[in-house]
Amino acid sequence: MGFKVVVLEGRARPGGRVRTKKINGDGVEAAADLGGSVLTGINGNPLGVLARQLELPLHKVRDICPLYLPDGKSVNSEIDSKVEVSFNKLLDRVCKLRHAMIEEVRSVDVPLGTALEAFRRVYNVAEDLEERMLLNWHLANLEYANASLMSNLSMAGNETFVRALAEELPIFYERTVDSIRYGTDGVLVYAGGQEFRGDMVLCTVPLGVLKKGMIEFFPELPQRKRDAIQRLGFGLLNKVAMLFPYNFWGGDIDTFGHLTEDQSMRGEFFLFYSYSSVSGGPLLVALVAGDAAIKFEMMSPVESVRRVLDILRGIFHPKGITVPDPVQAVCTRWGKDHFTYGSYSYVAIGSSGMTMIFLRRVWEMGGSNDLNSNSLLRVKFGGEKLDSGGLCLYGLISRNQVIELSQVDGDGNRMRMLNHDFGVRLVGRKGLSGVGESVISHITLARSNQNGGIKDNAS
Ligand SMILES: Cc1cc2nc3c(=O)[nH]c(=O)nc-3n(C[C@H](O)[C@H](O)[C@H](O)COP(=O)(O)OP(=O)(O)OC[C@H]3O[C@@H](n4cnc5c(N)ncnc54)[C@H](O)[C@@H]3O)c2cc1C
Repeated sequence: MGFKVVVLEGRARPGGRVRTKKINGDGVEAAADLGGSVLTGINGNPLGVLARQLELPLHKVRDICPLYLPDGKSVNSEIDSKVEVSFNKLLDRVCKLRHAMIEEVRSVDVPLGTALEAFRRVYNVAEDLEERMLLNWHLANLEYANASLMSNLSMAGNETFVRALAEELPIFYERTVDSIRYGTDGVLVYAGGQEFRGDMVLCTVPLGVLKKGMIEFFPELPQRKRDAIQRLGFGLLNKVAMLFPYNFWGGDIDTFGHLTEDQSMRGEFFLFYSYSSVSGGPLLVALVAGDAAIKFEMMSPVESVRRVLDILRGIFHPKGITVPDPVQAVCTRWGKDHFTYGSYSYVAIGSSGMTMIFLRRVWEMGGSNDLNSNSLLRVKFGGEKLDSGGLCLYGLISRNQVIELSQVDGDGNRMRMLNHDFGVRLVGRKGLSGVGESVISHITLARSNQNGGIKDNAS
């Protein structure tokens, strides 16, 4: 775009939270992704486009995830389905409760766990031990924010991505930025005693680093930005990557889960990913989410590996399968990592995306006049907490649906109709498909021809 850019990177390597480590020994080797590894959906995902351009082999994570009880027995499939249905119903009720509370009280929010537990008791859900363990497993999976494995893809080490993106970029490694001075005549960035001068700076450090105040800004960031940094949550996910002498868990599954009786440790090794098909060797990765991920960082790696092996042996020994010691194992510590202080952000209590919905909204729709053709719906969120430009989200709906929607009163009802009746989710402009872009071109062309009749305010 014509800008001269330099990248200041605190670490001695590119990639940040995407890190591939080659591990080997006893004649086996594999590329273990210790940070981000799975592409969640590839439509509208720039990494999906890049993967295709680089001709990287993508492996669809298979939708089979056997769950095992602490004694190694498989979870009864009827109980499994029953608890899954109940869990989804509980989530539905919690969502409705939150909607109602926000509608009534405007600002009150309630922790998801607390609300789920309250509803679980009221509706007598998961009263026996196996059901309770299953419910806890679903909660751990939710903490990992990976409710649907359907559209996930993994590949042969994300390092290839990182290398391709970093190629020919002027990156200064081991330059930890400690302060940024900005004003009308440019910016000064200080990193380890060195001063860098520029017209502007793009600060892309993780939220955890901003929360810790590791970078000083002069003048201070605006209050609304500081509030947003504090309100948003930054969660923790850790991994134990283990390279075994051979694959003892079988080649026909990509994931399996483990249940525990201890609710406070429900996230400890609750999910295992087999990377045999993509990493080049018999690699198994155990995930640790939620509170367990914090405790995990206080444990020695030897103890962690012992615990994970106990679980694996508990699952496979009763089946007559010997679990060998790993050739090599790596435990991550993303919470203690000074360049991230956590794994990824989540919507914390009090920072629900819903709060924006109650700010001023403008609805606009456009498209052709054919009742079955696609129309573009643009919902503009505005209000004191957003910049004057506001935030725009888009959806594709038919002209028929435009008419139905315009006959409904109230933003809440319109949003319900969109989500529940039409099954439409609003996305950012970049999330629109090719169809969306072609509708936009159509609207732009019509506007420039001053045809009129393509804009329809439904509010
Ligand atoms: C264990 C784990 C599993 C994950 N799994 C997935 C997954 O399966 N799928 C998925 O989509 N996402 C996953 N993620 C999240 C994904 O890795 C991140 O969302 C993504 O890498 C963020 O990219 P980024 O460039 O915004 O931040 P980062 O990758 O964190 O890059 C920020 C950069 O800033 C540098 N930096 C920090 N502070 C300073 C400073 N003061 N001065 C100079 N440089 C600094 C850091 O070293 C880093 O290189 C996972 C993350 C973790 C930790």
